[in-house]
Amino acid sequence: MLPVPTGIRALSRRDFLLRRLMPVAGIAATLPALRTTASAAGPGAAAAGQGAATRPASPEDGPFRLEPLPYPEDALAPVIDAETMSIHHGRHHAGYVRALNQAVAGLTVPASVEALIADLAIVPAAVRTAVRNNGGGHANHAFFWSIMTRPDRSPPPSGALLDAINASCGSLEQMKRNFTSAALTRFGSGWAWLIVRPDGGLTCTSTPNQDSPLMGDTFVDAPGTPILGLDVWEHAYYLNYRNRRADYVEAFFRVVDWNEVARRYRDARR
Ligand code: MN
Repeated sequence: MLPVPTGIRALSRRDFLLRRLMPVAGIAATLPALRTTASAAGPGAAAAGQGAATRPASPEDGPFRLEPLPYPEDALAPVIDAETMSIHHGRHHAGYVRALNQAVAGLTVPASVEALIADLAIVPAAVRTAVRNNGGGHANHAFFWSIMTRPDRSPPPSGALLDAINASCGSLEQMKRNFTSAALTRFGSGWAWLIVRPDGGLTCTSTPNQDSPLMGDTFVDAPGTPILGLDVWEHAYYLNYRNRRADYVEAFFRVVDWNEVARRYRDARR
C-alpha cells in the first residue's frame, strides 16, 4: 500500500524504533540551525528550528533530498506561473526538506518519506510535530509536482481509473465538483485530495496544514492513499490568482497528469 520507491529499501518498523546512532548524532550536533531559512516555509518548518548557529543548512544535510522539478519551471504556465513554481519548489519545498532533515538528525528513519509519515506514532514525541509538518510538507509537495503536466496535454481518465471514479463519485464531473468543494471549504492552509480509501473506494477529502491521508486515522479524518492532490496554501497561488482560490482550483484541472493519477491508482490497489 505504501508507495516506497523501487530500489529503495525502507527500514523495518523494528529497525526504525528509535535507534540513536552515536556517530550520526555527533554530526547532527554540529548541524546549523534553520531559523532564518525555515521561516519561509511556514509555521511547520519554523517549529522545527533548533539550535543557534546562523549558517542555513543545505536541504542535502540529511537523509531526505529535494528532487528537481520533473519539468521546467514555466511548464505549467499560464495555469501556474514560473515565478510561483520557482518559489514554491526552491524555497517552500526546500524548506520542508531542510527542516525535516534537521528534525530526524540522529535517528534511523525509513528511506521513503511516505513510509516515515505513515508511521508517525513511533517517531519520538519530541520531534513528532516537526516530522508531521515537514515530512508531510516534503511528501505532499513531491507528490504534487508528480501529478501535474503541461496544460491540456493529458488525455482525460479512462479505463480502471474512470470506472472507479464513476463507481465512487457518480461521474468525472461530480468527482471534480467534490474535489473543488473540498479545496474551497478547507479553511486556511491545507490540501485537497482524491484518495483510495482502505476499502478500495475513492473519496474527495482535505487535510489541514501539511497533513497527508497517509498519516492514518490517528492524525487525519479520512485516511488513504492520495492519487490526486492540490496545494491550497496561499503560497501556491497568490502571485497569479491573489485571493481567488476558486479560479486556481478550476484551472488546476488543466494541468492534471491523469496518466500519473492512473498509475498511482494501480499502485494503491496492489
Ligand atoms: Mn506548498
